[in-house]
Amino acid sequence: MKLHWYIDHDSQMTPIDFEVTRSKVKVTVKMLGELGLLAIDVGEEDGGTGLDYLAYAIAMEEISRGCATTGVIMSVNNSLYLGPIKAYATPAQKETFLRPFVNGDRVGCFALSEPGNGSDAGAASTTARRHGDQWVLNGTKSWITNGYEAEATVVFATTDKSKKHKGISAFIVPKPTAGLSLGKKEDKLGIRASSTCNLIFEDCRIPKENMLGEEGFGFKIAMQTLDAGRIGIASQALGIAQAAFECAIEYAQKREAFGNPISKLQMIQSKLADMEVQIESARLLTWKAAMLKDAKKPFTKEAAMAKLAASEAATQVAHQAIQVLGGMGYVRDMPAERHYRDARITEIYEGTSEIQRLVIAGQLLKEYQAS
Ligand SMILES: Cc1cc2nc3c(=O)[nH]c(=O)nc-3n(C[C@H](O)[C@H](O)[C@H](O)COP(=O)(O)OP(=O)(O)OC[C@H]3O[C@@H](n4cnc5c(N)ncnc54)[C@H](O)[C@@H]3O)c2cc1C
Repeated sequence: MKLHWYIDHDSQMTPIDFEVTRSKVKVTVKMLGELGLLAIDVGEEDGGTGLDYLAYAIAMEEISRGCATTGVIMSVNNSLYLGPIKAYATPAQKETFLRPFVNGDRVGCFALSEPGNGSDAGAASTTARRHGDQWVLNGTKSWITNGYEAEATVVFATTDKSKKHKGISAFIVPKPTAGLSLGKKEDKLGIRASSTCNLIFEDCRIPKENMLGEEGFGFKIAMQTLDAGRIGIASQALGIAQAAFECAIEYAQKREAFGNPISKLQMIQSKLADMEVQIESARLLTWKAAMLKDAKKPFTKEAAMAKLAASEAATQVAHQAIQVLGGMGYVRDMPAERHYRDARITEIYEGTSEIQRLVIAGQLLKEYQAS
C-alpha cells in the first residue's frame, strides 16, 4: 500500500503554521487512540488494546513508514509513558495516569535526560525532597518528546544522592502542575512536527502518592523501560527505511538514463539489494526481540541489537535512496530528503549507537563469563 500522508513543517514557520502543525498532531493523535494504537500492549481491562509487543512493533513500523513524527509520538506514549506505569503503578495511580491516556484524549511523556547527562543517565541531578505529604522536585529535564502536549510525565529524580544511581526514584507528575514549566520547542533536523523541549522543575510539589514503584528503584525502572522502548525505536527506524527504499525502487523503474530505466543499471540494482538485506535483517532482529519480550524471556541484548541494526539501516538506506534519486533526492518535491532527516534521530535517542554497542558487549561478556 502506498502512503502519502505525513506531518512536517519547514524551518521558516510562522506562528500560524505552528498552530496548524499542532492541531494536525492533535487530530492524528486522536485518530491513533481511536484505532487502539496508543496503548497496544495495555490490557483491555485497563482500556488498552490487549495485544502483544510484536503487534506493537509491526504497527510502529507501518505508522512510521507513513510519518516518523507520528511514530515517535506513538512510541513515547506506548513504551516510555504507559510502559513503566503499566508495570509499576498502584491501582489508584492507574486510574488517574493510565486509563485516561489510552484513547488519544491525552498523551504522556518520559523525562530521564538532563542538560548535563544523557547517556550517563545514572548521574541525574534533578532532586526530589520529601516535605510532609509531598515530594518537592527541582531540576531540568531535557529533550522531552511530547513535552508540549503531554498531560503527565514519568520523571526520574535523585532522592538520595549518596547512593548514586541507586538513589534515583521515579515519579508521575501531572501537567500542568505549579512549579513545572516548559523550555522552548527545539528546532530539529527531522521528526519536526513532534515537540521536544525542556521540563523545568522549580519547587514543583506533588503528593507523596505520586512516587512510581519503590524509593530507589527509579534507575531500574528507567533501564527496563528503555529496553522495551528500543524495540519501538527499531520499528520506527524500519518504517523510515522501508519508506526510503520504496521511494528509491519506484523512482529507479521510472527514471531513464542512457536510454533505459536506471533500474537496469547493475550499480543501482546493487544498492537496492543491499538496502533490502539491511532492512530485512534488522526487521528479523526486531521481531525476535519483541517475541522474547512477549515470551517473558530476557531481551536486553536483542533489543539493543535490533535498535542498533535498524537505526543504522535507516540511515544508510535513506542515504542511498537519495543517491538513487540523484538531484531529485535532494529537494522537498520528493520524500527522500525527509526520510534522510528523520532517520538520523533513531541512532541517538533511547541510547546512542555507541551505548547500544556497550549494552550488547556487556550482555555478551556476562553470557561468556569464564566459570
Ligand atoms: C529529538 C530528541 C528526542 C528525545 N526524546 C527524549 C525523551 O523523550 N526523554 C528523554 O529522557 N530523553 C530524550 N532524548 C534524549 C536522548 O535520549 C539523548 O540525547 C541521548 O541519550 C544521548 O544523550 P546526550 O545527547 O546527552 O549525548 P551524550 O551522552 O553527551 O553523548 C555524546 C556522544 O558521546 C558518546 N558517548 C557517551 N557516553 C559514551 C560511552 N560510555 N562510550 C562511548 N561513547 C559514549 C555518545 O554515544 C555520543 O556520540 C531525546 C533526544 C532528542 C535529540
